[in-house]
Amino acid sequence: MSVTIGTQSRPLRVAIIGSGPSGFYAAESLLKNDTIVAEIDMFEYLPTPFGLVRAGVAPDHQQIKSVAKIYDKIASMENFRFWGNVQFGSDLSREELLDTFDAIIYAIGAQSDRSMGVSGEDKKGSHSATEFVAWYNGHPDYKDAQFDLSQEKVAIVGMGNVALDIARVLALTPDEIAKTDIPHHVQEQLKASKVREINLIARRGPLQAAFTNTGTKEIPDLEGAVAIVDPEELMLENNTAQTLTDSGDKKMVQNFQFLESISSNEIDPSKRVIRFMFRKSPQEIVGGDSVTGITMVTNELFTDDEGRIHHTMTEDLETLDCGLVFRSVGYKVRPVDGIQYDAKRGTVANVEGRVIDADSGETVRGEYVVGWAKRGASGVIGTNKPDSIATVEKLLEDLPQWSGDELVKPQAQTIKELLDGKNIHYVPFEDWKIIEKIEHEEGKAREKPREKFVTIHEMISVIKSEKLD
Ligand code: NAP
Repeated sequence: MSVTIGTQSRPLRVAIIGSGPSGFYAAESLLKNDTIVAEIDMFEYLPTPFGLVRAGVAPDHQQIKSVAKIYDKIASMENFRFWGNVQFGSDLSREELLDTFDAIIYAIGAQSDRSMGVSGEDKKGSHSATEFVAWYNGHPDYKDAQFDLSQEKVAIVGMGNVALDIARVLALTPDEIAKTDIPHHVQEQLKASKVREINLIARRGPLQAAFTNTGTKEIPDLEGAVAIVDPEELMLENNTAQTLTDSGDKKMVQNFQFLESISSNEIDPSKRVIRFMFRKSPQEIVGGDSVTGITMVTNELFTDDEGRIHHTMTEDLETLDCGLVFRSVGYKVRPVDGIQYDAKRGTVANVEGRVIDADSGETVRGEYVVGWAKRGASGVIGTNKPDSIATVEKLLEDLPQWSGDELVKPQAQTIKELLDGKNIHYVPFEDWKIIEKIEHEEGKAREKPREKFVTIHEMISVIKSEKLD
């Protein structure tokens, strides 16, 4: 029987793996497309959706988290199903999904941290940004992570928005912490923190800082911290000074204005310090079993033939005393069995969102990728919308090649049978809404936006008990 895929009688069936912004934008783009009829099944390994909106966006940025309302609307669309608490690979294999769906879209993010490649990174007290961010955001996998907040001095390597999120969270006062949705057990540890000095370390200069206004705008208003930078560090080299005036780069200008605005700040002994340091590359994390400092080399900057600014190391070394180090130097995809991996880029192997065989470079039929897993860890939440639309366009371009096959795949409905058969307690979207309702109620009682459940067991139990009531 010849079939045309994407019609009312034979909808296009797509499995989306991951429920962060890129996954939801891909779903929206397919469901709102007037030329086809699509059915979406979204699989998420946690019972809770929204990926980094829940577990990555800083807890003092509740406004940014409100983007989840848009995803709620997408989830309520006809032909959309959410399967939370289902792990791709173990609960459902890639082969099972390929047998059931016309296409898989990987929206799996980039959950692994990059290493700095210096010795001492595995010492006690040296952590990845991934761990710390996931811990203060209540990610179940990190709820028991340990950070020695009795240390007074902290070094954060990298100067992107994640590094600034960490710096702000470490600098919040108990009152500021109380207004966030940081889980209770983490709040208690942050409130008891002895951290006094937070050093942000960039390997290039102030004009190359990766952060944006989003990361800095609250810093001047922090109740218990003062941000400082040595004015000498803002002296620009001849080759880069011109960039500031010529480039018209709004982010660069804003960043430099911010840094200039804090350059006359003075240390206030009653407050914590957030220090911005430039042109320093870590050489070693020093100490015995535990971190006692970070040795850094001073860098000089040079411009390549294409106008890009790079760093080169001098022989000038210094050691900054600190008892905690956070590496915040970017993320890469955690390789998953069966998904083609581009080790060099740290992404799913792809060309414009079409998954390719990592060895041969040939397109893999019916597999696509969106978001950080596609392009690397870059951009803000909104960047994912056009990115996902672009991948969906590639999928729709490929669609005519599949129609006409003897393609009578089982109904996507059999996913339920498949999961039931394996005794997997999947969480549909309406059950996530139960979790969310209780989190909001708990939050209200504690005068905070929500009190997150931090174990999967608690989440499943609350769903069961609410349904019994
Ligand atoms: P990022 O913006 O790529 O910043 C990484 C930083 O690490 C850069 O300063 C980079 O310096 C430095 N770095 C890389 N390798 C290094 C090494 N070996 N040694 C020392 N420094 C090194 O990454 P991110 O902060 O993880 O953020 C990821 C993405 O999420 C970004 O697009 C960010 O804007 C976004 N984000 C947005 C928000 C928000 O909008 N609120 C919040 C968090 C994250 P070079 O520039 O010299 O390479």
